[in-house]
Amino acid sequence: MGLVVILFFFGLAGGIVGRIKGSSFVLWFLISACVPFIGLLTAIFFRWDNQELRRECPGCGKIVKLHDALCTRCGTELEFPEVAIASEMSVRQRIAAGGRPG
Ligand SMILES: [Zn+2]
Repeated sequence: MGLVVILFFFGLAGGIVGRIKGSSFVLWFLISACVPFIGLLTAIFFRWDNQELRRECPGCGKIVKLHDALCTRCGTELEFPEVAIASEMSVRQRIAAGGRPG
């Protein structure tokens, strides 16, 4: 019984870390509960989804992550762009600091 409680809290911690980073709570809950320690560490060191640089798809205009090789909407193959769009996090921080987005 004690083990289940421990796994639950590992799952909870991993899920929260994943959620904070803009990823899925359920996904990281399951990972951390199935492989405690490693799952939680992975969640902590996993890249921050909402701090990733973004770019616009030339085919359909959808905003996708800079590291994406294919557009998730139209399937256009994406070259690594010369200009990146600021990450969600940095735009939000700029708004919070009283500036305008963009
Ligand atoms: Zn597209």
